[in-house]
Amino acid sequence: MSDLPGIVVMGASGRMGQMLIKEVLANDKARLVGALERSGSDWVGRDVGECMGGQPIGITVSDDALETMAKAQAVIDFTAPAATVDMAEIAAQARAVHVIGTTGLTDEDLEKIALAGRHATIVRAGNMSLGVNLLTQLTKKVAAALDEDFDIEIIEAHHHHKVDAPSGTALMLGEAAAEGRGVDLVEVSDRGRDGITGARRRGDIGFTAVRGGDIVGEHDVMFAAPGERIVLRHLATDRAIFARGAVKAALWGQDKKPGEYSMLDVLGL
Ligand code: NAP
Repeated sequence: MSDLPGIVVMGASGRMGQMLIKEVLANDKARLVGALERSGSDWVGRDVGECMGGQPIGITVSDDALETMAKAQAVIDFTAPAATVDMAEIAAQARAVHVIGTTGLTDEDLEKIALAGRHATIVRAGNMSLGVNLLTQLTKKVAAALDEDFDIEIIEAHHHHKVDAPSGTALMLGEAAAEGRGVDLVEVSDRGRDGITGARRRGDIGFTAVRGGDIVGEHDVMFAAPGERIVLRHLATDRAIFARGAVKAALWGQDKKPGEYSMLDVLGL
């Protein structure tokens, strides 16, 4: 039992944090060894099981990442960009696998994470579900098969708490479409149309973000040509799919060399 990989969940009180704790506890190949929250959170110092409205499980929520990581083989981090960048360095020092689900990371954040990846095993994905990762592969294939007569539009919808747009998943799908087409997404990305925008530029990849209610996550990749349309769609109805993927990534990373990996590596897609 005790030689099972020990996993720490960061952002324990968050929507994904709580889901991740349940998923690690339910997994018989891993054990929960710590739960982190930011200093000042009213969860710090309390038993995480009780914080989640259940029985105590003997894990006290901490705000000391260095100390908590000392006993861990992996940390799962669905928090905020600044917290994730700080954790990348700490996880590398602790020689622990860092599973990053946080989205909205800037290029500067990604550079810092890549630096940490020289000494640590990092698995990072804007979406950890099997379905979406399969969808990225399908998107790449369809984009490669069709020419620019087909306008590519990515439409995503999420709950009203989400702070970044387009979603990390929409960007992953955009990258996959651009790769399939053999173009650079930065050159063709069209984000946030408003007012007199002019006609659509041929070859662009457009993004639209819908925010409302408790939508877990929906993504359409539309290929629209005169006379016909192909729509590839993924609907997430339960956050558990992301948590399951993240725990799988933490276990998969245990025997991997330092470097940055994606869910495509984990799933062998
Ligand atoms: P959330 O409910 O706001 O949770 C974020 C949690 O992180 C909060 O508990 C927050 O604490 C905590 N946090 C922030 N800074 C911290 C720090 N320095 N140390 C420790 N904890 C810290 O958001 P969510 O819906 O769970 O989403 C979290 C992230 O995961 C977002 O970037 C979201 O886009 C992403 N996400 C990714 C996937 C995927 O498959 N890759 C799936 C779903 C969501 P406070 O409340 O005190 O700020």
